[in-house]
Amino acid sequence: MFRLRVWFQAISGLGWSEAKSNLFFATYILPIIVKVSEDQDELPAVRERISFLFTEQRKGNLWHILTGVYHKFMPGVSGGVVPCNSYSGVGIVLFLLAIRDEMKQLDSEEFESAIKILYAHEVIHLEQELNGLIPLLDTMRGTLPKEAIVENIVAAEVDAWAKTITEVIRPMLQQGKKIPSSESKISEIFSKFNDDPNHPGWIDYIRRHYSAAHLIA
Ligand SMILES: [Zn+2]
Repeated sequence: MFRLRVWFQAISGLGWSEAKSNLFFATYILPIIVKVSEDQDELPAVRERISFLFTEQRKGNLWHILTGVYHKFMPGVSGGVVPCNSYSGVGIVLFLLAIRDEMKQLDSEEFESAIKILYAHEVIHLEQELNGLIPLLDTMRGTLPKEAIVENIVAAEVDAWAKTITEVIRPMLQQGKKIPSSESKISEIFSKFNDDPNHPGWIDYIRRHYSAAHLIA
């Protein structure tokens, strides 16, 4: 089993303890992503991304950050990518209370799909960064005006969700996998906009969801 480098972000005594956060991660999340990375029958778009994550962690380029709290401004958000200045790297951050809430509402197959989609989506953001497509992490590090930060984040999410839907969500549905209704819904919305990431309606839809995204907790 891989040993993840986990940095527990303690936030003023709120939420879960470090021990409880680590236990939840080890019990419910880690087994899913380890299995995916080793399963040759898994969708390459998911398996290769999660394998990349483990490789980068072993190299010390990536931190896995568990927080036993909700995102301060977007409580429904399960995860994200963040710059980690203190470790000169980047991190994937998980908001474990949002993931716990999601788990309560889903059966085990839907929850497994939700975790796969979450990780694939976050690695797509790392690919955007590596390909120089959208300077998402500089956006979060920098001191841009609020409007510019929102626009960069919207551009990143417009692209990342289009890829998540076409490369991950729809192939999972075609395989007959059960996925959370929120993920089916975003796929249906994208198809209403002709699967066109540049469609103004799609961009507006994403903007409405991420209008508070500049408020990094
Ligand atoms: Zn995203």
